[in-house]
Amino acid sequence: MVIVVGSGIIGSWIAYLLAKAGFEVYVFEKSENAGDGISGRNSGVLHSGIYYDETSLKSKFCFRGYEVAIPFFEKNKIPFSICGKVITTGLSDTIEDEKDKQIEIEKLFANGNRLGIPDLELKSNPGYHWKHVLGNTALWIPKTGIVDVPTYLKVLWQLGEEAGVKILKNKKVIREDGGVFALDLQSNIKEELEADYFVNACGLYSDELASNDLMNHKYEIKPNKGEYFRLNKQLPYETLVYPLPLKTSTALGVHYTFHLGGDAYAGPNSNWAFSKDDYNIITSRNVYFESLRKITDFYKEEDLSAGYVGLRPRLFLNGEAVKDFVIHKESNWIHLLGIESPGLTSSPAIAEEVVRMVG
Ligand SMILES: Cc1cc2nc3c(=O)[nH]c(=O)nc-3n(C[C@H](O)[C@H](O)[C@H](O)COP(=O)(O)OP(=O)(O)OC[C@H]3O[C@@H](n4cnc5c(N)ncnc54)[C@H](O)[C@@H]3O)c2cc1C
Repeated sequence: MVIVVGSGIIGSWIAYLLAKAGFEVYVFEKSENAGDGISGRNSGVLHSGIYYDETSLKSKFCFRGYEVAIPFFEKNKIPFSICGKVITTGLSDTIEDEKDKQIEIEKLFANGNRLGIPDLELKSNPGYHWKHVLGNTALWIPKTGIVDVPTYLKVLWQLGEEAGVKILKNKKVIREDGGVFALDLQSNIKEELEADYFVNACGLYSDELASNDLMNHKYEIKPNKGEYFRLNKQLPYETLVYPLPLKTSTALGVHYTFHLGGDAYAGPNSNWAFSKDDYNIITSRNVYFESLRKITDFYKEEDLSAGYVGLRPRLFLNGEAVKDFVIHKESNWIHLLGIESPGLTSSPAIAEEVVRMVG
């Protein structure tokens, strides 16, 4: 019997694939509305994997995840669109800045080609190809899409239940005095849990369940805030528009994205949150607009209004930042740590890996 802790996109894929493989599976979820965590608060983008080093787990799982996800969406009628993505050098502050960006975009193009991402194109004068996109050079990545995340999660939970997964909500899993317990958050009753395997898919909180096991590995997750502003109209074409990724962090920079229901957003930026439930938007609209206006001249500041916030589970090991996903097996626990972007894209592949580890 396997207990999966957490019913975000990662825990849900793991539970579904384990049940399909014949395991008895229970999911413990502390929230009433599963999907309130990181999985319900992201850009919904299916990434090509262009940003990552080929030896990284992010690269490996992003590629495989994309390949598994597309036929899964088609089979289960989950709305998605392979809309492609433009990464532009955007407006530069100085000539040095411009030169630097030119080098960066060429490096990204070379990395994408090395990784075998199909049909990449480097284009000068992007505004000619995509009206209102600013900058001297852009990288066109046709193999990128968006998915309707609420439907994706709902379908996964339903398929999981049909395969035999039992989902228990309002149950917080805790570890104390060498035991594992489920605390019912409505009745306050605590019961001890036993299982052949426990899978820790707790997103922002996975460091808390890991810390009992990994004596010499002091993992800590710090929440990094990504704020989204809503845009009152979509660009006149369905394509994602990104700046070059930040050099100082794993964030991809404030970009233009849209949801399949018709909403458009700018986001997410990157700032440290005060806590793991700090979902307040604190950046003022005019400051936020400064980032967006570097990649497109389609919007005026008045077109932006406060949207939503997602928290990235930034992982640190003994105080040092870890840039890759971590999947750590220790006794009968499998811990998933630092599953930030491209975790949504990678989720089916991460689940396949966990099934291999359990089997
Ligand atoms: C701003 C932002 C934008 C992103 N954009 C993209 C994107 O465009 N494309 C992409 O591929 N990826 C993206 N990602 C990454 C992706 O969203 C995450 O990798 C993925 O959603 C992580 O899912 P999860 O299941 O690990 O976490 P969660 O969805 O947070 O699920 C964890 C669950 O565990 C539960 N839980 C926690 N502790 C306990 C406990 N002790 N007991 C019981 N339950 C517990 C929580 O309530 C929660 O439901 C983005 C992330 C962020 C923050």
